[in-house]
Amino acid sequence: MNHRPFEDWIISEQALNPVEKRELESHLRGCKVCSSLVDTGVELRSSRMVPPKAGFTHRFHTRLAAHKLSERRRRFWGSLVFILVGTFLLAWKAGPFILSIFASPAEWITFVIGYFLFVATSIQVLTEAVLVILNIAPVLVPAYVWMIIVSALAGLGLLWSVSIWRLTRYTQGA
Ligand SMILES: [Zn+2]
Repeated sequence: MNHRPFEDWIISEQALNPVEKRELESHLRGCKVCSSLVDTGVELRSSRMVPPKAGFTHRFHTRLAAHKLSERRRRFWGSLVFILVGTFLLAWKAGPFILSIFASPAEWITFVIGYFLFVATSIQVLTEAVLVILNIAPVLVPAYVWMIIVSALAGLGLLWSVSIWRLTRYTQGA
């Protein structure tokens, strides 16, 4: 069977004059290929015109919210497990130590207090000593002594850098 020009008419969806229309209709009655082509065209056109299903956006948002909720729940359980495991490990490792503290609290308290007192007094003494030195030094030590000390230090520094320089040159030459 010859499907031309009916095939072209159907595909191009061109406007037909009454004679062509009648010819096409008579052909479609006898031709399954061309009538199925028309059906396909109608289907395509209708699917193209159908807007997105109502409530699509709403459903999308609902699904997104559910996803976020499950994500949050998973994170919550993850952190809970993490904390529990961490606590368990800490208790396991530090347990004997803590138990020994509770077994003899008085000893530990005196030890801790003594330690803190020691650290505190050390810091105090050190700062006091530094302050005293800073206060007294300029008075006791005359300016020219400071100059000698500073120049001696500078000379030592220079000597040191020169010797380093010589050493590197020597090793490079060898
Ligand atoms: Zn045909």
